[in-house]
Amino acid sequence: MEELKKLAKELLENKTVAAVIGYQQVDDKRTKPIIVTTPEDASKLVFNEYCLNNLAVYLTKARIKNLAKQNGTTLKLGIVAKPCDIHAIVALIQESQLKREDVYIIGMNCHGVVKDYGMDFSGETLATKCTPCDSHKPLYSDSNLGEVKDTPKVSDEVLEKIQAVEKMSHKERFEYFKKEFDKCIKCYACRAACPLCYCQRCITDKTVPRWVESSPHSRGNFSWNVVRAFHLSGRCIGCGECERACPMDIPLSLLNRRMTETAKQAFAYVSGRSLDTPTLVGSYDVKDSDELFM
Ligand code: SF4
Ligand code: SF4
Ligand code: SF4
Repeated sequence: MEELKKLAKELLENKTVAAVIGYQQVDDKRTKPIIVTTPEDASKLVFNEYCLNNLAVYLTKARIKNLAKQNGTTLKLGIVAKPCDIHAIVALIQESQLKREDVYIIGMNCHGVVKDYGMDFSGETLATKCTPCDSHKPLYSDSNLGEVKDTPKVSDEVLEKIQAVEKMSHKERFEYFKKEFDKCIKCYACRAACPLCYCQRCITDKTVPRWVESSPHSRGNFSWNVVRAFHLSGRCIGCGECERACPMDIPLSLLNRRMTETAKQAFAYVSGRSLDTPTLVGSYDVKDSDELFM
C-alpha cells in the first residue's frame, strides 16, 4: 500500500499523469472509487480485498478524459488496476476506445476480492469471478505492485449453475431465464457498471424506431437482457460488475460466461488478453467456424 501511495505521488508530482483513478477506504471492510488529482491526496489510495469496482469503466467517461487535458497538452490517466480490470483496459484499447500511451497502468497483483463489502475474506466469501481466474499478475502494466498470495481454492459456482441450466430442456431454460428477467426493473445499473458498455447512445434508449421497450415488463425485459448479452458476446472480460450492480440479483454471469466459453471454443478467442490481437467481432477469417449458425 505504501508503494502505491509513493508511486502515485511521484506520478502526479512529475506530471506523468493528470489523475490517478483508484480506491479509497470507507470503513475497514469497504472501499469506494476515488480520482486523485494532487500529490497530497495520493495518501488516500488503498488496495486490498475490498477493492471490488472495475475502475476501467471511468476511462471512457468524458469528464474523466477531460482531466487529462492540461494547458494545451494531454497527460496520461493513471489507474490502479487488478489483473481482471486490465483485461477491460486491453479490450478498450483493442476496440479503439483508448490509446495505450494515454493510460498509466498501476497493475496490482491480486489473490481475489470478496463477494460483497462487510464480509471477511475467505474461500466462502470469494467473488465468483475469482474462482476460475488464471491471471493473478497483470498481463500489461507500467508498474507492477503488491504481494503474490495464494487464492483460496473453492468450487466454480457459476460453472456449476451453467451446467445445471444446460441440462434443462429448451422450454425449461426459456422459463428459467424469463422468470429471472421478469425481475428486471430496467435501472440499467448493469450497463453503467460495465466497462465495455461505452456506447454514447445505447440501443435501448433509441426511440425512432424503439428496438427495446423501456418499461419493465416481460417482453421488454427479455429483449433488453438478451440484446445486452449479444452485444457483449466475445467482448465481455468477465469482471462480474454487471451482476454485482444488479439490485434484483439476476444471474447475468451465467449468460456472459457461457458466451465467453462459446467464443473461446469456437474461435479460440478471449477478450482483453492481447493488445496484438484484433477483436473477435471486428475481424473475419475464412477459416472461422460457422457451427454457431447451424
Ligand atoms: S478475478 Fe482474478 S484478478 Fe480479478 S479480483 Fe479475482 S483474483 Fe483478482
Ligand atoms: S458484461 Fe458484466 S462481466 Fe462482462 S465486462 Fe461487462 S460488467 Fe464485466
Ligand atoms: S441491473 Fe439488473 S435490474 Fe437493472 S437493468 Fe440490469 S438486469 Fe435489469
